[in-house]
Amino acid sequence: MERRDFFRLLTGMTTALGMARTSALVHAQALQPTPSCPDGSEPTPRQTEGPYFKPASPERASLLEPGMAGVKIVVTGVVRLASCQPVPRALIDVWHADDRGDYDNAGYRLRGHQFTDDQGRYRLETIVPGVYPGRTRHFHLKVQAPKGPVLTTQLYFPGEAANASDPIFNRALVLRVRDGAEGKTATFDFALRA
Ligand code: FE
Repeated sequence: MERRDFFRLLTGMTTALGMARTSALVHAQALQPTPSCPDGSEPTPRQTEGPYFKPASPERASLLEPGMAGVKIVVTGVVRLASCQPVPRALIDVWHADDRGDYDNAGYRLRGHQFTDDQGRYRLETIVPGVYPGRTRHFHLKVQAPKGPVLTTQLYFPGEAANASDPIFNRALVLRVRDGAEGKTATFDFALRA
């Protein structure tokens, strides 16, 4: 081998080695320790959309309107990936029945979407949905990380007699509800599949 060829080979090997090291470094930076996830990381179960979803709901965190009947409720929580990482700018689209168990299919009453903040948190202000024949009390939701798949699901209330007879009721989807002076507060954290 000529001396010039030997140097060319050596340079090539050094470059390849450097690239491998850079790639290993990038991997080391991308792999972060899994943060604690006290509620577990089981993905939030999917549920049927039902017959009353309407696309293009208004963007709003409060569905309350003047004169609206019903018990106020504020629902808060975090949207995470199943790996526990919070999801900023996740879409949360909510629709539900009014105090009497009716959906607004002509307009957008009790329908709205919002996006989680930098830490994946959301805050929804609305009323407790009324019940209608065949179903226990529930919210409908679609939750989606940016460019991720859509999770269609429902949330339920604790202590409802009709939970036992609703065929799709799922206890993994029950809100933690507390009574307060100004109405109810509730929490629920979502875990999305990647
Ligand atoms: Fe429904």
